[in-house]
This record gives sequence, structure tokens and C-alpha cells, in this order.
Amino acid sequence: MCWDEYRWLTNQILPWVDSAALFVILGAMPSSLEATDPTISRLIAQETERQASKLRLIPSENFASSAVLAATGSALTNKYSEGYYGRRYYEGQEFIDQIEELAIERAKAVFGSAHANVQPYSGSPANLAAYLAFCKPGDKVMGLHLPSGGHLTHGWKVSISGKFFEAVHYKVGKESGRVDLDEVRETALRERPKVLWAGGTAVPRTVDFAGFAEIAKECGALLFADIAHISGLVAGGAHPSPVGLADVVTTTTHKTLRGPRGGMIMASEEHAKAIDRAVFPGLQGGPHNHTTAALAVALHEAQQESFKTYAHQIVRNAKALATRLLEHGFELVSGGTDNHLILIDLTNKGLPGKVLAKALDSAGIVTNYNSVPYDPRKPFDPSGLRIGTPAVTTQGMCEPEMVKIADWMQQVADAPSDDGLHERIAGDVRDLCKAFPAPGVSG
Ligand SMILES: *Cc1c(COP(=O)(O)O)cnc(C)c1O
Repeated sequence: MCWDEYRWLTNQILPWVDSAALFVILGAMPSSLEATDPTISRLIAQETERQASKLRLIPSENFASSAVLAATGSALTNKYSEGYYGRRYYEGQEFIDQIEELAIERAKAVFGSAHANVQPYSGSPANLAAYLAFCKPGDKVMGLHLPSGGHLTHGWKVSISGKFFEAVHYKVGKESGRVDLDEVRETALRERPKVLWAGGTAVPRTVDFAGFAEIAKECGALLFADIAHISGLVAGGAHPSPVGLADVVTTTTHKTLRGPRGGMIMASEEHAKAIDRAVFPGLQGGPHNHTTAALAVALHEAQQESFKTYAHQIVRNAKALATRLLEHGFELVSGGTDNHLILIDLTNKGLPGKVLAKALDSAGIVTNYNSVPYDPRKPFDPSGLRIGTPAVTTQGMCEPEMVKIADWMQQVADAPSDDGLHERIAGDVRDLCKAFPAPGVSG
């Protein structure tokens, strides 16, 4: 319905109905998205329903709060603000400046960092900006090997970081499934990289940032800590912080930190200018102000006592899930978890990751298939399954629910093509999700 029709209608009706009735009429009117683009509107509604009715075990995903979603979908998307607060290239920044300053101050308070840049568009651009601040093409960089749980942006060959820099990697032990700092030290002293990355994307164990900082000092490297996955745990005190140990700390804002999709870089005062210049004008144009505002909201949420409870419960839930999976004979890389993430090696179950992930999805349990260290299978058809507890913890689930989830996973793994069983479990999952409504998507 267009505006003129709407006005005509209200003019016709207004004299005749009381305000309560008008409210009902307006409520029944299609939202402007639905009116403008029913196809996208329907697809968004379907995706929202999918998120509300399935168990989301992908460890990089979460549920942002309604407050975060509201800021994300605001008029701030209309504003250009190249530069930093107080130093912009466009007028009309009186409110945007306050928003960005608040986001920065809250980031500094939450993480205890001297400097924060909240403009990176996401985790990968944040890492690229960190390189740009300190490296030249051809410099040597060292990070965790991708099949050992490292991220593409830590020098993997298909990524710009592997194409523009000379990358060397350290791996997790074949038996231990863990990073061995003696091996990291040996490789770092031999290779003398400009940058040493700590952290990764499929790392179920605590990252020893203090140990990495010592090695970086010994070999003369800059230490970059990538806490994309664990920043919510760090903020909530459920994982040691790299702030004060690493030269640069990068993170996404949408994983355990539970904010909008975005990125952030933290550093000491000494590196502040280099980082800011690298983000803008080095790499990006105008910041995404709607995301900055939503990040400020998420960081405000992270300052509450309840966020600490959430962060610690994520870890307790992951441990409960891991324990039950072990009881069911699942093999876990490194034998368990210290954080939010579990990497299952399905080799002993005789199931490729993709087959189980698809079967689980039909049973209402959403996971992602993943390579395991030294995986003999191809990355697109790997041996592992990567799961995590951030989203289900945000829904308020605790240890008893984790046991239930592990039991369902076992039943599906035992009967990966039993459609009737999957359907039954999917129904039970829907009931469980109803009992633990997710912020922002349930009703
Ligand atoms: C997710 C992730 C990134 C990249 O984040 P995007 O927002 O997807 O670009 C970078 N590093 C690590 C360790 C990650 O897990």
C-alpha cells in the first residue's frame, strides 16, 4: 500500500474508529518491506523461522539481541563518515561522532585496551588492516596451518595473505591435537617472521598468549592475536586475554561477542596511529555507522554481569557436550575442549563430515563439516564436524540440554539415512527451541 492510499484510507476511517481499532488496522497492514519486496520479505521470514526452530551448533554463529538488531537496521546506514570522530571529511556528524566514540570507549573498557578501532567491515578486513599497518608485500608471516585450525587470513595460499606475503606455518601435534609452543619457537627462530599470529578458527583449546608473546619477543616478530572466535569469552573472563601481551589484537564482533557482523582492532597507544591509518584511508572508505552503533550496544551488553555468566556457561556447555559425545564413542581432536568449540574426527564412525552434517540438519541440528588436522580427505569433503555452544547458550540452554543434543547426534550418526528418525528428532528439537526462545528471532 502506498502512502497516498494509506492517507486516503486513514482519512476515511479516522473519524469513525477509536484509536485502539486503528492500532489493529495498522498492525494488520503489511510492513514496508513486505509491501516493497514480498520475495525478500518472505525469505527473511523463512530464515528467521529456521533460526528459531533448529539447534544452531555452528561455533562462529550466535543470536544478536533485539537491541543489536534494531541498531543494525537503523537510519545510520544512510550516513557517510569517512575519517574518525572529530576528524571527518563530511558534515553532519554530531550524532555519528558520539556513537563511534561510545563504541570505542566501551571496547577499551571491556577489553582493557589502550586503543580500539571499530571500523573494520569484518574479521578478514581487520586482519588485512593489521598487515597493512606493519608489513610490506613479500614480508614473512607465520600462523597456524589451516588444516590445524588456522584461518585463511593467516597466510593460507588461496587468500591475499598467502599471495602477498611469504607464509610459514606451525601445526598442532598429530597425537595431541594441540599447538606445541616448543615447535612454534623452533620454527619462529629459524624463519624469523615479521608477524606471528596466535589464534585460529577451529581451535578447541586455550591459546597461550603469554607463551606466544615470549616467542615473538625472542625472534623479533610482532605478535598478532586473532580472537575472532573467542572475543566473547575473553570479554566475559572465560578465556585469558591477549591484551597487553600482543602488539595487535583483531576480532570479529558477531561470533561469541554477540554483536553485529563486523570487525575490530585493538592495540597499544604506540600502534594506534598505524592501525587507524591502515583501516582508513589505507583499506576502507566510509565506516558502517549502523554496525558501529550495534557494536556499541553489544559492548554495553558485554559490560553487564549477565555476560560473564553467559561466557562461562558457553564453556561449561561445551565441556558437557564433549563429555557426552566421548561417552558415545566420538573422537574429539585434542580429546576435548577448553572453550566454546568441539572438533569431532568422524573417521572411527566410518562417516564423512558432510554426510553426518546433512543428516543432522534434517534432524534440526545445524553444524559445519570441517577438516581435522592431517585430514586425508579433501577440504570440501572432510573427515570432521565442527560444533560449538554460543548460540544454544544464548538461548539459555544448560548442561542437561547438552546431554540431550549429544544423544540425538549419536542416534543420527548411528542411522544417517533413517528419515523417519530424523523427522522425529527434528520435532523434539522444535519443542526444545520453543522452550528456549532465541533473542531477536523467536516470536
Ligand atoms: C571468522 C574468523 C575471521 C574472519 O572473519 P569474517 O568476519 O568472516 O571475515 C578471522 N579470523 C578468525 C580466526 C576467524 O575465526
